[in-house]
Amino acid sequence: KGELMKGKKGLVMGVANDKSIAWGIASQLAAQGADMAFSYMGESLLRRVGPLAESIGVKHLIECDVTDDASMDAAFAKLKEIYGEIDFVIHSVAFANKNELQGSFVENTTREGFLLAMNVSAFSFVDVSRRAAELMPNGGSLVTLSYLGSERVIPNYNTMGVAKAALEASTRYIARDLGPKKIRVNAISAGAMRTLSLAGISGGRSLHAKSGQFSLLKEETSMEGVAGAALWLASDLGLSTTGEVVHVDAGFHVVGLPEDVEI
Ligand code: NAD
Repeated sequence: KGELMKGKKGLVMGVANDKSIAWGIASQLAAQGADMAFSYMGESLLRRVGPLAESIGVKHLIECDVTDDASMDAAFAKLKEIYGEIDFVIHSVAFANKNELQGSFVENTTREGFLLAMNVSAFSFVDVSRRAAELMPNGGSLVTLSYLGSERVIPNYNTMGVAKAALEASTRYIARDLGPKKIRVNAISAGAMRTLSLAGISGGRSLHAKSGQFSLLKEETSMEGVAGAALWLASDLGLSTTGEVVHVDAGFHVVGLPEDVEI
């Protein structure tokens, strides 16, 4: 327990269950005194998200589908009604159709699927940032979640890799626009973790295991590590850091050739 987030209010988007990265982050923020609301997509998720929220003292649950303008309008109106002003948003939301997350990128990517992944996984952060900035007259911190598939070719990640590249570029442009308002905007590039989203990627389990095996630390990316980075960025520890993509992946992103490849 600590007080790094004491007096800070915000929104955590993307808790689906207790494996969600958003949940790991929310737990650490709560332990540091943050006051936050959760947004979730669809009534059916409430059954899982409700008890989780309650367990860490989160009282406000807001339904929000990021692809729906009316839903976004209502969600941010509710947030304004609850808090007036906020200090942080954790954006931990992404989606692509399963058939776009396997095999050949060039063969399997459809216009519809490509645009859907871009809409949910990249544009939503632009939209959230614009709306959140209106509630941040005294500055704040916006944090999104990305993955190495934006920079490197990862088997089956395909359309989502392209969407993550757009998300990371968006992070830099949003950071430029909101910088003068003292709003910091950063992305965490997390290593593979066993969540619902990973299960949607063909070979996701194996990707998770191999990422740990080939990493510098020889271990899987921990929820504590990812949440710790989010805490740093969302709290005043992160002052002066903006427009950044921070890798939290046990060093996997710097490996050129796995050590067990014979050369
Ligand atoms: P998750 O499935 O628990 O979280 C994804 C969330 O996105 C869910 O809560 C889901 O309800 C939400 N979502 C999907 N479509 C939405 C929409 N239209 N409107 C609102 N919410 C919507 O999985 P996760 O792994 O915790 O994913 C969170 C973020 O972390 C994603 O951006 C993901 O790409 C990223 N990430 C995941 C990994 C990994 O290996 N799991 C690694 C790096 C980055």
